[in-house]
Amino acid sequence: MVEKVDLLIKNGYVVTMDKEGRLFKNGAVAVSGNRIVAVDKTSSIEQKYSAERVIDATGKIVMPGIVVSHCHTHGQASMGMPAEVEMENFYDELAKWWWPFLEDQLKKEDVYALAKYAITEIAKNGVTTVDDVMEAPKDLPGVLDAEGKAFLEVGMRGILAFEATERISKENGKLGIQENVNFIKKWNDKPDALLRGVMCVHTVFSCSPEMLKEVKELADKYNAWINLHVEESMYEVEYSKKHFGKLPFEHLRDIGFLGPNVLAAQCVNTSDKEIKILKEYDVKVSHNIQTNMVIGVGLAPVPKMIDEGITVSLGNDGFYLDMFETIRTVYITHKGVLKDQSVLPPKKVLEMATIDGARAVGLENDIGSLEVGKKADIIVVDLNEPVPLNNSNIYGNIVSFGMGKNVKYTIIDGKIVVENQKVLTVDEEKVRKEAYDATVRIWTRNGFL
Ligand SMILES: [Zn+2]
Repeated sequence: MVEKVDLLIKNGYVVTMDKEGRLFKNGAVAVSGNRIVAVDKTSSIEQKYSAERVIDATGKIVMPGIVVSHCHTHGQASMGMPAEVEMENFYDELAKWWWPFLEDQLKKEDVYALAKYAITEIAKNGVTTVDDVMEAPKDLPGVLDAEGKAFLEVGMRGILAFEATERISKENGKLGIQENVNFIKKWNDKPDALLRGVMCVHTVFSCSPEMLKEVKELADKYNAWINLHVEESMYEVEYSKKHFGKLPFEHLRDIGFLGPNVLAAQCVNTSDKEIKILKEYDVKVSHNIQTNMVIGVGLAPVPKMIDEGITVSLGNDGFYLDMFETIRTVYITHKGVLKDQSVLPPKKVLEMATIDGARAVGLENDIGSLEVGKKADIIVVDLNEPVPLNNSNIYGNIVSFGMGKNVKYTIIDGKIVVENQKVLTVDEEKVRKEAYDATVRIWTRNGFL
């Protein structure tokens, strides 16, 4: 008896990223509704399942969609922004540029348009989940709803976080916290929804210990994840030593903030003794290598963290929309800096982009690998190389030569969102134009246009 399913992807090189690292050279995946119902050799799947919609993945790779564990979609409006300011340190970067000219200018319509553009491009490049950290403190409440609308229209799985801080006032910090609570209440009791809320704060230098404790309590109360930035620059390390007499992760530990539901982005200047703390509390890390490099804050000690057994995932910080580029940058940079070709083998880097990404956002039971029962977040990639692929070179070729433009299909929650580099759910040209108009509005408010 052949069972009818909704979608069959067959004849592909299936890279499951599951615990056993199963690979099927001529493999297939069967999808029913939003779930994977079978992963096996094509011959076995064809005996058991049929579908109206069949994707022939001959010569292509079938793998789990990429998870971006840290993004700021609104960052798209800041690229090349003509603000002439003198910046002496990382704090200036925020206080003289990022906050006044970008985040303080954002209105809901801008948040919506920029998010929609960024996730449309990201989907084309093989991403199926984005953890986005938004800060638009002058247009609360409802910012996350505006952003969520964009995610739902594109069909992107989203973890949406409002970055609460007290940099403007304590009251504004409370509004930010409430924004997250509202979004959590709206979405987190719906296990099949594309959206999920988390608690989120900025940093130890922009949030008081009292605020951090309150956020931790609320995260525990609502059984939610917490996003924050830690140690992106030495400014934060020096600030923490001066004000709290200890390093940032020691401070966070001592106020009871740390736990397995904490996702710390950046961790560039994390010391060896703090890496032990991350391990002890099972804190997850998001590594955003490209922005760390471009603003010159350093290279996170990722190989040490991984050796310690810490979950390290990958983010793009909202700037670099081709995650294959991010994957490759991570793969090559640590080797070069450490003068050691053996660090971060290709399979590990691909795990960081998929199953470890899922773990970092608390969704490892639902996404991150191709396994029966998981949600159908799948990409089909055509590396288009003049070499035969085999079980020894497959991971290396994906991380070394993969590019966003090689992605033929992006399937999110069982739905085909991208086919042959075309996003099926939105009018791409309109989305780009609306993001451009949002950027013009923001730059005009700043007097740049
Ligand atoms: Zn960030």
